[in-house]
Amino acid sequence: MEIHILSIFPEMFQALSNFGVISRAIDTGLVSVSAHDLRDFAHDKHASVDDRPYGGGPGMVMKPDVVARAIESVKPDDGRSVKVIYLSPQGQVFNHQAAAEFALEEKGQCLIFLAGRYEGVDERVLQTLVDEEWSIGDYVLSGGELPTMVMIDAIVRLMPDSLGNDQSAEQDSFVSGLLDCPHYTRPEEFSGMKVPDVLMSGDHAAIKQWRHKQALGRTFLRRPDLLASKELSDFELQLLAEFKSEQEISD
Ligand code: SAM
Repeated sequence: MEIHILSIFPEMFQALSNFGVISRAIDTGLVSVSAHDLRDFAHDKHASVDDRPYGGGPGMVMKPDVVARAIESVKPDDGRSVKVIYLSPQGQVFNHQAAAEFALEEKGQCLIFLAGRYEGVDERVLQTLVDEEWSIGDYVLSGGELPTMVMIDAIVRLMPDSLGNDQSAEQDSFVSGLLDCPHYTRPEEFSGMKVPDVLMSGDHAAIKQWRHKQALGRTFLRRPDLLASKELSDFELQLLAEFKSEQEISD
């Protein structure tokens, strides 16, 4: 996957590409990440990327000619699938399902992320050059850099061969429509609390079943909306009933 990012703060993306899963994915050639400075595409002597809004009012607007030149300069023209994505609080809300779909698209695809600043980008660029608008939630940040990093991290970690241990993505929250189960490590006792006996039993089937039950129970307690949109098997309904009775939760 080839990723280009257009931003007035390209240095911010070192935080993404120099560490952890993304850094490893770059090293192994699974993905390439290039951050470009939008100011390099401004033609005036001040390298202006923004201007006052027509109609007046506060704030500045990112100039369409500068953004258009930047998009055109990084867009490959060799027939590969290309998507230009604008990060915007007005876009579709990004979630696990969307990340998984991006991650499974064809290998050589190119994603171009446009990180806005100020009041955003001139509407005409959005209408002519942007394919999709994505939001990371119902709140407004001061720029699209963090949302871009959020999307890239969520997508790349779901790409096949990205995580060292494939299992760790499978168990994660949202992957099977449930939240993840609780996790424990040494020491055996901490703050007066012991690790659940089953996790020390070595009985892999019992551990698997306990984790499944906890995932169902947590989702019931914390995100009942997720359970409402998931069809539970008879076995899962039984595990959930056991969880409720263990926690003394009545229906
Ligand atoms: N005036 C815009 C509005 O209310 O829709 C908000 C502009 S915001 C201050 C500046 C930039 O931050 C946006 O152009 C966008 O790129 C980014 N941004 C802010 N909040 C975001 C969110 N929730 N999701 C994705 N991008 C966001």
